[in-house]
Amino acid sequence: MNSSRFFTLKEARIGNNCPECYSNDSLELTFKQKLIETKLYKAITDETLCELLCLNCEEQIFPIRWTDDIERVVDYHKRGLKTKPKSTKLKPIAFGLVIFGVMILIAIVLFALGIL
Ligand SMILES: [Zn+2]
Repeated sequence: MNSSRFFTLKEARIGNNCPECYSNDSLELTFKQKLIETKLYKAITDETLCELLCLNCEEQIFPIRWTDDIERVVDYHKRGLKTKPKSTKLKPIAFGLVIFGVMILIAIVLFALGIL
């Protein structure tokens, strides 16, 4: 079970015109950061992405459709973005496996030394 997903860092309504339907108050910008989750650990990566969605025509506006104005506003928001620091957290099961491994190792050493 390895899964990666994106969690939302920031959402902002921007006042630009939608390149699809020309509505000027329906563009929503979302910044997301990537998270990888496995059975043993959960890691935050430094990979981010941003999506632009029009709430009026319900279209996702891909960067290729962005106007210069939209790009400027996206850049502005990007600069003010606070990403979460990269981190890896072990889950309790991982700690359990490590402790179990260490105990086996100690048992082997004691056995080898003839103590057990
Ligand atoms: Zn639209």
